[in-house]
Amino acid sequence: MAVCDVCGLPTELCVCEDIAREAQKIEVYTTKRKFGKLMTVVEGIDAKNIDLKDLVKDLKTQCACGGTAKEDRIELQGDHRRQVKDMLLKKGFTEDLIEIR
Ligand SMILES: [Zn+2]
Repeated sequence: MAVCDVCGLPTELCVCEDIAREAQKIEVYTTKRKFGKLMTVVEGIDAKNIDLKDLVKDLKTQCACGGTAKEDRIELQGDHRRQVKDMLLKKGFTEDLIEIR
């Protein structure tokens, strides 16, 4: 029996694709903080579909940086747009949902 590797449900029960299609775009961009430090912001991830606390933990490990998850928004210290995108693709998000600015 085929199992979805995003939600772990049998593919006939899985609604990941439907959710993804309805989801708004995920925006990944950098912004400047105090003292000119760059911060990477990830917005638009549906917190009902993805555990942001888990995701930010993985991102912090992958990017070796500090970061926080607040409601539906992730902030990472430094410019990690590339790594964020790679991680989102690994988590099952499709490329055209992710907008890098
Ligand atoms: Zn699924």
